[in-house]
Amino acid sequence: MEHYSSQALILRIKDLGESDLLVLFFAPEKGLCKGIAKAARKSRRRFVNCLDHFSLSQLDYHRKKENQLFLLDSCKLIQAYEALRTDYRLLTLSSYLAELAETLFPLHVKADEMFELLVRSFELLCQGEAPEKVRIAFEGRAMAMGGYAINLECCCGCGRAYKGEGRAVFVTEKGGISCLACRKESKRYPGMGPKSVRALKEIQGPGYDNFPSGLSNKEVLEELKMIFRQHILYRLGKRLKTLKYLE
Ligand SMILES: [Zn+2]
Repeated sequence: MEHYSSQALILRIKDLGESDLLVLFFAPEKGLCKGIAKAARKSRRRFVNCLDHFSLSQLDYHRKKENQLFLLDSCKLIQAYEALRTDYRLLTLSSYLAELAETLFPLHVKADEMFELLVRSFELLCQGEAPEKVRIAFEGRAMAMGGYAINLECCCGCGRAYKGEGRAVFVTEKGGISCLACRKESKRYPGMGPKSVRALKEIQGPGYDNFPSGLSNKEVLEELKMIFRQHILYRLGKRLKTLKYLE
């Protein structure tokens, strides 16, 4: 029997049978987990207000064998992040962030950094931070954590170092940038200016507490948005389901 007690973000809940709930949650040590809250719909006592989408809770759970679902023993609400459920725009964005996290970190992969990133992003959204800034910063950090940082050091065609001047072209299948001599900007190969490259470099580095100042610039946000649209689709090999609600 393995027993755990940890913080967890509740990502999804679904009715199961007559009285149980199936809960998808994200914990720092265990990563993405599936668990059953027995009789949670009949007796709400053990799980009062703590099994809502995107809420942060202290969770006690166990399982008898390694390949089984977890059973939730009790749960205590830490942060409700209520705005994420009541504001439609924030709801769709949070669902998208959660789906990206789930895709990059499948079941039971230790993911404490991703847990922190999700918590921090939910907090910022509830504090009224601009959703498009939170989204771009999340996409950049999450992809870097998943092993898909964009190479900004040199041109992926001729190898010339990028010195922080002039425009660069994002080459989707290389996961890196190219100089204008090697490739032209197009819809498929979106370009970005030096400010965007600089902001992206900061996002991909560690330390998410402060947004790069570049993210306050509308043009930077637009350029990075196009780049992540291509990058995420190509690297994950699928369009995330929640994306259609977002756009
Ligand atoms: Zn080149």
